[in-house]
Amino acid sequence: MAIVWPCPLPVDAYVAAGRKVEVPRPACPSCAGPLVFWSGYWRHVRAAGRCPKIFVPRVRCGPCRVSHALLPAFVLAWRLDVAEVVGAVIGQVAGGGGGVRPAAARAGVPHTTARGWVRRFGARAGELGVAFAALAVDLGGEAICPPAEAGRFALTAIGAAFGAAASLPGWLAVGLWRFASAVSGGRLIAANTTSPFLIVGSRRFMPPVPLLPA
Ligand SMILES: [Zn+2]
Repeated sequence: MAIVWPCPLPVDAYVAAGRKVEVPRPACPSCAGPLVFWSGYWRHVRAAGRCPKIFVPRVRCGPCRVSHALLPAFVLAWRLDVAEVVGAVIGQVAGGGGGVRPAAARAGVPHTTARGWVRRFGARAGELGVAFAALAVDLGGEAICPPAEAGRFALTAIGAAFGAAASLPGWLAVGLWRFASAVSGGRLIAANTTSPFLIVGSRRFMPPVPLLPA
């Protein structure tokens, strides 16, 4: 299992820190007890045309006998590219700013990779829209009137939730797409995710069942 933390560090700074990267230690998601650092592993990320390795620390809960990877929010589960790059492509295409091919070219990623992101986002857009719209309201933000088109609804809702979260300590510096990654547990565009599980700080949100078709 993975816990995504709202890392504000530039990717380069995170890479340069290696094993010494400073990561806040969360409470156990199951029992709220203390977690202890427990080794970790290395994985690649792709950012700005390079593919460095980052260290992902693990934490362990003794009583629950479970360990969790602590992923920085610029990482999405099972994706090589950083959240900002994925988000930029999704934002352009789902926001009606052009096709996948030019967005992929601007981001410097293969067309087929970008097309995969956009398809996954489109498939989940209805539930993401409902979840992030509920989160925005819960955080004291504006209630949004859903645009008819699901992708645009999801983008608007993510923006509204981030706008509301940005008034809480720490979130503004994290940025829109890292925020979206962090509160979705890195599963913003993951396959086989049935319900988005939204987390802001120590708060958890189980959003309502989506009303829009996916
Ligand atoms: Zn525990």
